[in-house]
Amino acid sequence: MHYQPPSNLLNNKIIMITGASDGIGKEAALTYARYGAQLLLLGRSEAKLKQVQQDIAVQGSHPVLIFPFDLLTAKTSDYQALAEDIANKIEHLDGLLHSAGLLGEIAPISTQDPELWHQVMQVNVNAGFMLTQALLPLLLKSSKASLVFSSSGVGRKGRRGWGAYSVSKFATEGLMQVLADEYQGTSLRVNCINPGGTRTSMRASAFPQEDPGLLKTPADIMPTYLYVMGDDSSNESGVSFDAQPNRIPGAAK
Ligand code: NDP
Repeated sequence: MHYQPPSNLLNNKIIMITGASDGIGKEAALTYARYGAQLLLLGRSEAKLKQVQQDIAVQGSHPVLIFPFDLLTAKTSDYQALAEDIANKIEHLDGLLHSAGLLGEIAPISTQDPELWHQVMQVNVNAGFMLTQALLPLLLKSSKASLVFSSSGVGRKGRRGWGAYSVSKFATEGLMQVLADEYQGTSLRVNCINPGGTRTSMRASAFPQEDPGLLKTPADIMPTYLYVMGDDSSNESGVSFDAQPNRIPGAAK
């Protein structure tokens, strides 16, 4: 996307990012902070989150709150406790980017490990539902809130071997569409971003033979993440955006 955001795009915005300890979520955190946002960062590893917090402090951006939280093992009551903790710290939430994700295994359905299947669904779908549900009251207190899910090309067209991950991303698109319809005409908009093949550890696990140098970096795709989070996308809801619209899905040549 060729989008040139104003440098104050996210001034006065309070935004939460999941999967903020690595990959695209980490880059979104660094980028949103540079554009003025106050951030709440959720991730599995406290040490990695602290490093991102420190990197943002070095940039001179707003102080960041971190929430070590395991989306795989958390119960519904943990989400409620998290939401209460957050509500004690902030009055509203202007954005929530679900970037956390689990690849699972690249294997045909006939051999997909059922345990791993459940784990992928838990992190990629159920956690997104539970966290969103817990944080909806804070999102609805914002005058303009953006709720963003992370999709994938295999969440729109099934591909052999992509099993649970592909199915989970179809479900993510569905969750986004249902929410967008439920909140149509309100202050809350709901969209997906398909990053397209991007140079992260998840991508390297999926395509170990691929030359990562052929891929866009998380920083390259930030214009779309800024557009969807900032007020310039206020009228967009129910859309699945492509951060790399001209890219053909699959391995880089
Ligand atoms: P990474 O694997 O680089 O990062 C994933 C993030 O999710 C990490 O911060 C990781 O934490 C966090 N996470 C994983 N499991 C849990 C858990 N149980 N609890 C809390 N946090 C967890 O992935 P990407 O940055 O590449 O992907 C970001 C999103 O974009 C994902 O939803 C992915 O499916 C999607 N996507 C990525 C593409 C790509 O090419 N990279 C292409 C299409 C879609 P930790 O640091 O502890 O591992």
